[in-house]
Amino acid sequence: MKIICIGRNYLKHARELERDIPTEPVFFMKPDSSLLLDNRPFFLPEFSKEVHYEVELVVKINRLGKTIAARYANRYYSEIGLGIDFTARDLQRQLIEKGLPWEKAKAFDASAVLGDFVPKEELGDLGQIVFSLHQNGNLVQDGNSKDMIFAIDTIIEYVSKFVTLKIGDLIYTGTPAGVGPVAINDHLVGYIGERRMFDFVVK
Ligand code: MG
Repeated sequence: MKIICIGRNYLKHARELERDIPTEPVFFMKPDSSLLLDNRPFFLPEFSKEVHYEVELVVKINRLGKTIAARYANRYYSEIGLGIDFTARDLQRQLIEKGLPWEKAKAFDASAVLGDFVPKEELGDLGQIVFSLHQNGNLVQDGNSKDMIFAIDTIIEYVSKFVTLKIGDLIYTGTPAGVGPVAINDHLVGYIGERRMFDFVVK
């Protein structure tokens, strides 16, 4: 399986990082070795002094597809989950300055936290999914899928022009504003609506 991540998919987040607003989806990938499952602790890596959380809705692909039209894209997933796209922001800044690929800052071990999934029927309107991240009991990110620049089905259409989607692939759909650093002993809890989707500590 592969993990596809969408960058800068919320206006306020693109602005907080002082990045251009994309006119088409920006995507990058993480390897399967980046998954952090089952609420296991996240160990801060030694190579970064500034690891940021980015809470994101995650789409799990359940059908093989290539060049999928947006109007049929909803046939390719049945569950939505929540995860974190951990980012070594200091390394990412250096790589962007040099025009280099982002993998070192994005694809490292345990950088893709994956929580639970909810059948999409239970979520109602997928254009209005409310989700949040709490750090040590404080609300730090508060998102709504209505604020996505590119909706889930548009993302699937775009990505599948370039990359065949396979069963079990994950798409991290971008983070809303409010990203920030994590520290040892932080407690991170993510919600979709009132549902607790993940709950783990930083070590
Ligand atoms: Mg992200």
